[in-house]
Amino acid sequence: MSVRTVGILGGGQLARMMVLAGAPMGLRFELFDPAADACGGQLAPLQVAAFEDEAALAAFAARVDVVTFDFENVPARSAQFLAERVPVYPNPDALAVAQDRLSEKTLFQALGIPLPPFADIGSRDDLAAKVAEFGLPCILKTRRFGYDGKGQFRLRSEADIDAAWAALGEQVERTGLILEGFVAFDREVSVVAVRGQEGEFRAWPVTGNWHVDGVLSASLAPARLPDAQYAAAIGYARTLAERLDYVGVFALELFCRGDVLLANEMAPRVHNSGHWTIEGSETSQFENHLRAVLGLPLGDTRMLGHACMLNWIGAMPDASGVLAQASGHWHDYGKQPRDGRKVGHATLRDDDAATLATALEAVGGQLDRAGQVAPAVTTLRG
Ligand code: AMP
Repeated sequence: MSVRTVGILGGGQLARMMVLAGAPMGLRFELFDPAADACGGQLAPLQVAAFEDEAALAAFAARVDVVTFDFENVPARSAQFLAERVPVYPNPDALAVAQDRLSEKTLFQALGIPLPPFADIGSRDDLAAKVAEFGLPCILKTRRFGYDGKGQFRLRSEADIDAAWAALGEQVERTGLILEGFVAFDREVSVVAVRGQEGEFRAWPVTGNWHVDGVLSASLAPARLPDAQYAAAIGYARTLAERLDYVGVFALELFCRGDVLLANEMAPRVHNSGHWTIEGSETSQFENHLRAVLGLPLGDTRMLGHACMLNWIGAMPDASGVLAQASGHWHDYGKQPRDGRKVGHATLRDDDAATLATALEAVGGQLDRAGQVAPAVTTLRG
């Protein structure tokens, strides 16, 4: 394989982990990010410019063989501008669908993927009418630019209509708004999958996820799901990827309520709930994403035992508790601490579920994070 340079729009931790995965394959990288301190820039050349800066985008396109994303909210116009100069994966149309909760959910519906009720909201009167139709609770979200629970307002009573409109109403022009029925889910799962340029499709085992304040806290793979749901979840991901002619890794997030599965959203990129694949799978999501965008054969997605990922939010804890575990792996993204920011993660892996549960309990005790490890421990012992 001759040396090839992969351009990545967005230079955060996802780009950083792609660089780490591509280095053994002899790949070079160029990152593009508006922030001069984007943490991927510690490992690869970083072009600092606005995503709308066409002169900078053209120069970037001239230096790379293929472009991909670590960030989905790149303007669709910029993705299209690059696609006129260099191959871009996933394709800008797929990116555009996944950027907008309304078009994404409309597509889920068209493909027969079950999901909670949703409606485009253009005014306070719309909101009041749809709240009456869906019933409470429900969630008002920005259509675009929301992530990690930001740009969301949960309505619990009719009195919340005014508060929700005060919080998000002014976004109606800039981002659009969508109302969703609230799902009283038993658990959340995600399918992380990859599709190659010739249509080859592979999914990693379905992952169970726990969020705190809308931000992923812990992931456990494989998720404990009845066989029929497990197969349905992977089938939905496949249907979606085929319809979008998707190339690369993506995640489909789903709610489980009893034996019902409902889709929440799709992320058109490598995903936080797939970080465990670095140590827990034959081929990581980062390596397979690179293989897909370069047109190389995909690697096996089978997993090696059980794996649990713990996210570090705000500031890095002390590493020694994790590193003391035989199967503990430590990831520090080299970011400045900041409230709510994802700064690193750890993955623990073991062939045996009970041994992994014991290791997680030890880590939870040592780091004073018993609450963070508890759902995974309970699931592993269940
Ligand atoms: P999102 O940004 O849409 O992935 O939302 C972040 C988190 O908020 C999800 O992972 C859920 O934990 C919660 N959430 C979002 N939408 C809903 C919903 N319609 N019903 C219940 N919980 C939700």
